[in-house]
Amino acid sequence: MMAASRETPDLFDLRGKVAIVTGGNGGIGLGIARGLADAGASIAIIGRNEMKSAAATAELVQSGCKAVSVVADVTDQAAVIALVDRVKAELGRIDVLVNNAGINIRKPPQSLDLGEWESVITTNLTSAFLCSRAVHPVMKAAGGGKIINIGSMMSIFGASFAPAYAASKGGIVQFTRSCAIAWATDNIQVNAVLPGWIDTDLTRRAREEVAGLHENVLARTPAGRWGRSSDFAGIAVFLASGASDFVTGAAIPVDGGFSVKG
Ligand code: NDP
Repeated sequence: MMAASRETPDLFDLRGKVAIVTGGNGGIGLGIARGLADAGASIAIIGRNEMKSAAATAELVQSGCKAVSVVADVTDQAAVIALVDRVKAELGRIDVLVNNAGINIRKPPQSLDLGEWESVITTNLTSAFLCSRAVHPVMKAAGGGKIINIGSMMSIFGASFAPAYAASKGGIVQFTRSCAIAWATDNIQVNAVLPGWIDTDLTRRAREEVAGLHENVLARTPAGRWGRSSDFAGIAVFLASGASDFVTGAAIPVDGGFSVKG
């Protein structure tokens, strides 16, 4: 006797969904945007660099995705409110927010001035607060949503050369947990992804500045390689889709084993 066939919904299907990716014009953000687009989502790319954002958006459109670019500084409260309004007006809804925009200033704590400290904390942490707070009413009114915050190995470990960055990324995890609890009954799942060492513009600069970094990362990473922006497509699709509806407040390393090696 043949087994009765059964409709199995595609848990990872993002068709009809709209995702905002801050810092989506390059690096990890573009890897995430490509992954979400391949799963069917429409994408809003947010960044300050107009040409870079236009190029990333054009690439997504060429691959068959609906995509728009919004030039905005995510540290600016008014700009964040305006970008959320614009994405809702242009793409009709907001189902997913990826708080990925980030910078680093490499200096030991005693050499970091207040402006540098504030610029890293504001870009990496306050922006996630501003964007999450701005999308919350839209997601709540629609019956739910997904927020993905990008942390770091420095959400777990300290770093003598990046005190503000480590503080911002530790803060991202606690902010993630707090929103996860606050918004669970709004059916909004909030999770963090903690990348290991990934080959992007950010770390290309670090490799130039820090002698031996490249070799140390290879030796310290069990997978024996640097991560690629494409390594973030799978986790992003999982956390943006119905497959993760009971996953909230988690901080998931995507690090080739870096964080579990003693
Ligand atoms: P990139 O430098 O390639 O990308 C950073 C992105 O953030 C750019 O798209 C940039 O766009 C955007 N951005 C920065 N400041 C602002 C701002 N004020 N407003 C809007 N957009 C902004 O770096 P990565 O891809 O490597 O980093 C992405 C995230 O991943 C960051 O949060 C980073 O901390 C994190 N991460 C990276 C790791 C790595 O090894 N690469 C490891 C761990 C975490 P624009 O310049 O156009 O504004």
